Amino acid sequence: MMSAAGPGKAALFGPVDAARLRRRREIYTLLPGVAGRGELQCVFQPSVSASGGELRGLESLVRWASPTIGAISPGEFIAMAEESGEIVSIGRWMLDRAIADFARMRRMGLEVPQVSINVSPAQFADAELADFARQTCERHAVDPSRVVLEITESVLVDGSDMTSAAIDALLGAGFVLSLDDFGTGYSNLRSLIRLKLSKVKIDMSFVRRMIEDKASLIVVDTVIRLARGLSCSVVAEGVERQEQADLLRSLGCDEIQGYLVGRPMPFGEFVAWCEGRTDAVAGATEAP
Ligand code: C2E
Ligand code: MG
Ligand code: MG
Ligand code: MG
Repeated sequence: MMSAAGPGKAALFGPVDAARLRRRREIYTLLPGVAGRGELQCVFQPSVSASGGELRGLESLVRWASPTIGAISPGEFIAMAEESGEIVSIGRWMLDRAIADFARMRRMGLEVPQVSINVSPAQFADAELADFARQTCERHAVDPSRVVLEITESVLVDGSDMTSAAIDALLGAGFVLSLDDFGTGYSNLRSLIRLKLSKVKIDMSFVRRMIEDKASLIVVDTVIRLARGLSCSVVAEGVERQEQADLLRSLGCDEIQGYLVGRPMPFGEFVAWCEGRTDAVAGATEAP
């Protein structure tokens, strides 16, 4: 982008834009092979039932600590990795790490029913996605019915043969599908019905505003009714306050996830978090 602009155009960028572009270019240069260099980490964020606070699952989220430029958030690099195709190897690394760690937690006796893994639309371009996921489960002796793949509405909009075939193969192997960030994309209701979704996650932008903003509350309420009508369970993301958790429970939301329940944690910290939960209710009411 900047190279195409040339020296004359560079003056159009302020110092902030220039710094941001430089960082983006640096990240882009560091991306190739990142999964093989031991710079990625998998962290886990719990989700609990909205009514009783029992642990329902954990979501795996990628972290990148670059030895040259330090921490790089997924918000910064995932979109770039999707563009460059690097997301395929990052995604495979995460599938393997998350499923291996989940298997280890269960062997340790932790009662974690399911693990969720984010899958980018670009990963569906990998013809071997479903085979890889299936083999990973076999290798770690995890039943695919315990593995939830979080996809976004853009996968539904895509609708390509390749994507549909991959989704069918994943469902055929017994994996569970969840729709992430619901309400922010462009999917129509027909494609929502076509997919055999087990979970719908309400985007945190609605959850964050619903107490002050009537329109957001209506969206949250409608999504909960729609999902329940389609026999999907509903997860609210980004729950930070007790009053949000209380309202979501009264609206019939099944699961909550957010800083109120627990932040994303590395393996050891997550294990300690689980062990510190004395009763089923603790998780839903504890401040972070
Ligand atoms: P997401 O899948 O919707 O994940 C939720 C994001 O919200 C996470 O950010 C999480 O740390 C953050 N979060 C959770 N609870 C709260 C809360 O109460 N308040 C606030 N303010 N934030 C909360 P994170 O880890 O930075 O990830 C951002 C996005 O990057 C994810 O959104 C997901 O779309 C993508 N991502 C993360 N890890 C992966 C991965 O392994 N593969 C792929 N393909 N995408 C990933
Ligand atoms: Mg997610
Ligand atoms: Mg997301
Ligand atoms: Mg989300």
